[in-house]
Amino acid sequence: TSRAAGRGTWSIYHPEMSQMAAYRHWVEAELYGALQRDELSLHYQPKVLAATGETIGYEALLRWNHHQKGSIPPSEFIPVAEQCGLIQQIGDFVLRRVCEDLGKLPDHITVSANVSAAQFNRDGFVANLGRLLTETETRPERLEIEVTETLLIRNLAEVRRIMNGLRELGISLAIDDFGTGYSNLSTLSELRFNTLKIDKSFVDRLTESDDSASAMVASIVGMARSIDAGVVAEGVETQEQFTLLKAAGCTVMQGYLFGKPMPLSAIKARAGEARATGDANMPFLASDN
Ligand code: C2E
Ligand code: MG
Ligand code: MG
Ligand code: MG
Repeated sequence: TSRAAGRGTWSIYHPEMSQMAAYRHWVEAELYGALQRDELSLHYQPKVLAATGETIGYEALLRWNHHQKGSIPPSEFIPVAEQCGLIQQIGDFVLRRVCEDLGKLPDHITVSANVSAAQFNRDGFVANLGRLLTETETRPERLEIEVTETLLIRNLAEVRRIMNGLRELGISLAIDDFGTGYSNLSTLSELRFNTLKIDKSFVDRLTESDDSASAMVASIVGMARSIDAGVVAEGVETQEQFTLLKAAGCTVMQGYLFGKPMPLSAIKARAGEARATGDANMPFLASDN
């Protein structure tokens, strides 16, 4: 039984654990079909300039609409895809779709795509991406790759080589969920990241009464400046967070306050609406002057 190892001891047969393993198994099996059945799609979340509210670009976020279960979040299937190797095919799908969609958006708009470590480190990643840009006639300056700090833990020489290759192509590089790992300033500076994305956990802590959170954000902004990188705050939900982030020197923001991730058709409609109604889509600017 699950208690075979003794009272209060976890055994590998614990029912909750086997349920989780079974779920992961199911996800893996279904994920193969998801690619075939065309159940994966991208949503786009706006990134706005704090000063004007203008949308300057979007982050592409993967969505899975399973034919029976409906929507399954990336937090549940990306780790499985990374483990079983399917992340390569899924990653190829994401980058191709992003390049195709860039062609349907105004030329000044940029899009960032999340790339897993396994995908980044795969042989030929840079060469394949170069071919994709050519094939889809995408200006490389319009594409940004987001990686997390976990990428920097191992094999820095290899990471440096790949990053240099991407830079030669003309693609920008962002470090995602910044502040949750332990990358140091010299590594960041050496790798010449273009953007630091301040993790939502810092943004969540921002309130008028918590000075330490504001100080933390200001120090990340300072760090970014010192390595000549830009900052984007993630997960901005309230007017108060917006005001405090702006005061701390954060110039670009992303979060539900400005827009949730939406299908391409919705962001195209929104862009048209913004032109027609001026700043009607930017109520967050109203109380800020
Ligand atoms: P991430 O790259 O840090 O993306 C930000 C996440 O925060 C997204 O969750 C987004 O929907 C959510 N978010 C944005 N603004 C707000 C807000 O104001 N409030 C709250 N509560 N959440 C907000 P999502 O779409 O569920 O994606 C989760 C993670 O899955 C991503 O985190 C990224 O690490 C991964 N992911 C998503 N798409 C891809 C992909 O195409 N490839 C890879 N490798 N990973 C992906
Ligand atoms: Mg991201
Ligand atoms: Mg993030
Ligand atoms: Mg994240």
